[in-house]
Amino acid sequence: MKTLELINVNKTFYTELGALDVLDNISFDVNEGEIVAIVGPSGSGKSTLLNIISKLLKPTSGEVIVEGDIGYMFQHDHLFNWRTVWKNILIGLEIKKDKDEKKRERVKELLTKYELIDFINNYPQELSGGMRQRIALIRTLATSPNILLLDEPFSALDYQTRINVSNDIYQIIKDQKVSTLLVTHDISEAIGMADRVIVLSHRPAKLKKIIEIKIDSATTPLEKRKSQEFAQYFDVIWGLLNEQ
Ligand code: ADP
Ligand code: MG
Repeated sequence: MKTLELINVNKTFYTELGALDVLDNISFDVNEGEIVAIVGPSGSGKSTLLNIISKLLKPTSGEVIVEGDIGYMFQHDHLFNWRTVWKNILIGLEIKKDKDEKKRERVKELLTKYELIDFINNYPQELSGGMRQRIALIRTLATSPNILLLDEPFSALDYQTRINVSNDIYQIIKDQKVSTLLVTHDISEAIGMADRVIVLSHRPAKLKKIIEIKIDSATTPLEKRKSQEFAQYFDVIWGLLNEQ
């Protein structure tokens, strides 16, 4: 089953400086429970693509079909410093005026499972960057989205934290079986986390290739980094990103 389908999506921005073509005929889909990564150079149109999928922007032409609700997590965690962790996590349900106790129970289960329950009365500034990012993910999952959009979610973290947090977040996403579209410019992160990697060209972004990642010897992003196949996938994607 497809959770998300893009059909010939084009985007041109019209500004005082003229027309800027950003997306050139992008088509792909994300299947149920699948993690798809998008890699592309900075400024190629990756965030624009997520903004179109989440309906913050309209495509100039083409179609986006989404099955169910969307959860969108940005590069910065956007936690509110004046609200406790628990109040931050409930914000999506509050906005939707969703009083369903079952959803709150589910959130508590997630927080317990991922060892964050002891921090729900803390304020975000009291937590580490990696912990904040996991809280932001659980906040995004609180409304039970069918597809998760992640825009460079680890790029504000230092290298070591980034690897550890991407491992944790991979586990949460796979446990919860939520379809995910992960935007990143980090090739290793894409190979470690995704079932398929979409490689985009420079702006206007065209879809260069979709690469299926199969590393049978490893189950976590951290283990995958150590496999032989990893280096081969890296070379292929590096080559695609660097060709003119
Ligand atoms: P990426 O996320 O791949 O780094 P973006 O999607 O943010 O790239 O941006 C792609 C291009 O579109 C950039 O050149 C950016 O300046 C331009 N752009 C993004 N949003 C707008 C907008 N609202 N109006 C005009 N230009 C925009
Ligand atoms: Mg971006």
